Amino acid sequence: MGEVWTLAEFRHGKLNPISFELLNRGKSLAQKLDTSLASIIIGYDIKKEDIDELIERGADKVYVVDDKRLENFIVETYAKVILKLLDEYNPDIFIAAATTTGRTLMPYIAVKKQTGLTADCTVLDIEEETGNLLQTRPAIGGNILATIKTLNTRPQMATVRPHSTKPALPDRNRVGEVIYKQFSDDVFSSKTKYIRFIKNESQQVNIQDAKIIVAGGRGLGKAENFKLIDELAELLGGAVGVSRDVVDRGWKTYPHQIGLSGKTVSPALYIAVGISGAIQHIAGMQTSENIIAINKDPDAQIFKIANLGIVGDLNEILPLLIERIKDYKKKEANLNV
Ligand SMILES: Cc1cc2nc3c(=O)[nH]c(=O)nc-3n(C[C@H](O)[C@H](O)[C@H](O)COP(=O)(O)OP(=O)(O)OC[C@H]3O[C@@H](n4cnc5c(N)ncnc54)[C@H](O)[C@@H]3O)c2cc1C
Repeated sequence: MGEVWTLAEFRHGKLNPISFELLNRGKSLAQKLDTSLASIIIGYDIKKEDIDELIERGADKVYVVDDKRLENFIVETYAKVILKLLDEYNPDIFIAAATTTGRTLMPYIAVKKQTGLTADCTVLDIEEETGNLLQTRPAIGGNILATIKTLNTRPQMATVRPHSTKPALPDRNRVGEVIYKQFSDDVFSSKTKYIRFIKNESQQVNIQDAKIIVAGGRGLGKAENFKLIDELAELLGGAVGVSRDVVDRGWKTYPHQIGLSGKTVSPALYIAVGISGAIQHIAGMQTSENIIAINKDPDAQIFKIANLGIVGDLNEILPLLIERIKDYKKKEANLNV
C-alpha cells in the first residue's frame, strides 16, 4: 500500500494553516489503510520549524523541495516538481486544499498523471472492502451528495474544502523523517514568467477568514431586518453569514451563504440568529469553536450544537445586545482616555 500524501501550502515565506486541516484528514485515511502519512512542502527558504510543525501535527514523513526557483508560485514549475516526486514515490492518495493553489495545481497534475481528481470534497473516507478512497462532494448545485471513487488509476487525488474539518493538533514529542529533494534544471524551466505579485486590497471580508460570524436565517422575517445582523457583525468586527433560505429569498447574496451548498466556515465565534439548524446548514459551520444560537423555538436543532442558547424573539434580543455592546465599547473607550 502506497503512502497518503498531503500538500502543505507554503507561500511568501509562510506555511498556510490549511496544511494542518489536511493532516487531520490524511491521518484518519492513513490509519485506516495502515500506511504512512507524508506531507510535501515546496518553495524557497522553508524554515525548519515549519517542517517540524508538519511532523508534530501528524506527518510521518515530510518531503521538502527548497529552491530559489520555487520562490513564486508558477503552476507549471510546481507541478513538474510534484510530478517528479509522485513518479518516484507512488503514493496511493494525494490530497490538497481547495484553495487557489490547490485548485490550480491539482487538475494540472491529474491530467499529466492521467488519474482521477475530485474537487472540493467535504468528506473523505476509505472503503473497507477495497481500500479505495471515497471522495464525497456536493453535486448538481448542492442538491445531492456524490461519492466518487478512482478505481483504476493512482494516485487517487482530491481537493478538500477549507475549514470543513479542524486542524490536527500538535504533539511536540512526535518525530518523523525529513527527506530533502533536489532536481535538475529542466524541472524548473517554464513557459510562464513571473513578473510580480499584486495583492487584491479591495477584496471584501471573506467569511471563510473571519474570526467572528453573525449569521441570520429566515427568522429575520424580511431583508430590512438584516440591518440588525449587519450592525452586530460590524460592532464585533465580524462578517455576515446567512442560511440558504435567506439567499433564496434574495435578502442577501450567495457569497454570504453558509452550508452544504454554500461556504464552510470555522470561526472562533458563530452567532446563529433565527436559523433552525438544518443539517445542510450545520454541515457548513459545525467546526466553529463557539456557537451562540438565538431562536424563539426551544426545540430548534441549532441548540443541539450550540455552546450557549438564548430562547427568545430576536427582535427583542438583538437591539438589547447591540445596545449593551455599544455601552461596553463606550466605557472601554473612556477608560483608555
Ligand atoms: C441539497 C440541499 C442543500 C442545502 N444547502 C444549504 C446550505 O448550504 N445552507 C443552508 O443554510 N441551507 C441549505 N439547505 C436548506 C436547509 O435544508 C434549510 O432549508 C435552511 O437551512 C433553513 O434556513 P433557516 O434556518 O434560515 O430557516 P428555517 O428552517 O425556516 O428556520 C427559521 C428559524 O427561525 C426561528 N425564528 C423565527 N422567528 C424568530 C424570531 N422572531 N426570533 C427568533 N427566532 C425566530 C424559527 O424558530 C426557526 O427555527 C439545503 C437544502 C438542500 C436540500
